[in-house]
Amino acid sequence: MYGTMQDVPLLVSRILEHGRTIHGRSTVTTWTGEQEPHRRTFAEIGDRAAQLAHALRDELGVTPGSALGTLMWNNAEHVEAYLAIPSMGAVLHTLNLRLPAEQLVWIVNHADDKVVLANGSLLPLLAPLLPHLPSVEHVVVSGPGDRSLLDGLAPTVHEYEELIAGRPTSYAWPELDERSAAAMCYTSGTTGDPKGVVYSHRSIYLHSMQVNMAESMGLTDKDTTLVVVPQFHVNAWGLPHATFMTGVNMLMPDRFLQPAPLAEMIERERPTHAAAVPTIWQGLLAEVTAKPRDLSSMASVTIGGAACPPSLMEAYDKLGVRLCHAWGMTETSPLGTMSNPPAGLTDEQEWPYRITQGRFPAGVEARLVGPGGEHLPWDGESAGELEVRGAWIAGAYYGGADGEDLRPEDKFSEDGWLKTGDVGVISADGYLTLTDRAKDVIKSGGEWISSVDLENALMAHPDVAEAAVVAVPDEKWGERPLATVVLKEGATADYAALRTFLAQSVAKWQLPERWTIIPAVPKTSVGKFDKKVIRRQYADGELDITQL
Ligand code: AMP
Repeated sequence: MYGTMQDVPLLVSRILEHGRTIHGRSTVTTWTGEQEPHRRTFAEIGDRAAQLAHALRDELGVTPGSALGTLMWNNAEHVEAYLAIPSMGAVLHTLNLRLPAEQLVWIVNHADDKVVLANGSLLPLLAPLLPHLPSVEHVVVSGPGDRSLLDGLAPTVHEYEELIAGRPTSYAWPELDERSAAAMCYTSGTTGDPKGVVYSHRSIYLHSMQVNMAESMGLTDKDTTLVVVPQFHVNAWGLPHATFMTGVNMLMPDRFLQPAPLAEMIERERPTHAAAVPTIWQGLLAEVTAKPRDLSSMASVTIGGAACPPSLMEAYDKLGVRLCHAWGMTETSPLGTMSNPPAGLTDEQEWPYRITQGRFPAGVEARLVGPGGEHLPWDGESAGELEVRGAWIAGAYYGGADGEDLRPEDKFSEDGWLKTGDVGVISADGYLTLTDRAKDVIKSGGEWISSVDLENALMAHPDVAEAAVVAVPDEKWGERPLATVVLKEGATADYAALRTFLAQSVAKWQLPERWTIIPAVPKTSVGKFDKKVIRRQYADGELDITQL
């Protein structure tokens, strides 16, 4: 027996039409670096998305299933592309503008992008790549920047505004299969080739609903969210779609991602929410400590993509800004957990929950797997690799235009769960605490040492701006931790004092013997600690090590 309910496909076009009509007055504000930012309503964005779809189909010959790359900052035009491209049946492929040139070339060729939409300010990055991108027939440029950089290159160049001008402001969006591809994003590819995750209309729709739930970000049309997390990094955590469902206003920083303009944006536009990786919040904290700014409008902030040091959360608590920790991956759309504490607790009782990665929503099932493949209990103590499954979790990677989907054994279990590569514990009430990436765990004399615990403890020291701990080979123990520390301005290194400080929060046998001061922790293209660089620097003898 089947249910008697209507079978309406869950499509991005439905999100778009809902936002442009029911929430037509909500706005997308894009920072321009000038006195007045640029504002556009959801109704205008909806009209322009339809115009863009007409232009792409009628002028550029885009057909359902074609992939279109976007090399863009967070701004209104990028939101238009986010809505128009999937709605017309094509596939939005966001390109990470911080990737090395050869990886970008590999990714565009693998996805077989026919068109690239680019911001003018990114043409210096795009132009030298184009001779290596045979599939790209058209480049559509929006915003300020030197167009002459594209002179003499093969693709036809179009001006975004000219291309969409005068076209109809409604479009008969096709009634697609909800499982068809809507968007794709390649993982950062720290090992091997980057891997393409292809989001479906259905997964985006369901994920957006979860983002909007009160137990997740829980925003409404009374809110404005400052979307710092790039649109090229896991769909800006789903915000451009989720906001169109509920009318949340968006504040888009475009290319102004440095702490000073971010602080100014917050003070002037008074967003109630923001989303970004810890590095951004560290930078903003240093900025507002040196030059106080009013951040009080931000009732809540979603912080994720890398572990949030508890000391950072405490520092923002003091500024009246509540950070809420979230965990996710490109493969998980990304919302996997959020650390809203259970009801009925005092501030003090909430704290241990807030510093976890958070609990799983109904759409994400989780299990912990031990080294021998055994399933571990949720007792807050048994540490294993996290595996997840759910309607917005990848079940495979894109195999290319002619290839089959890829299900590498190290990424997917035999029964189809995603192996996250993250190691941690889960409490009986479903809160996840990550202790490491599987490849970053320090295995010392048969015991595991958590690099994240050591980093968090070090970053709580008043002289320490940032700290990264990696495993280095050790004759006696197999591996031992190496502490690399970035000092705050004006502080001097006193390793013995740092070690004594660490001893207050971790077991004695876990204390690092090897220490070094570095000017900055190397970061990946999406702002996470890049530990493989530190391990390589150590192996190559580039670091000045002090042994205690
Ligand atoms: P990406 O696919 O580039 O977004 O990277 C996903 C990885 O980032 C995860 O597998 C984790 O290792 C890491 N990550 C994301 N969020 C957190 C978090 N809240 N705490 C610790 N690590 C995180």
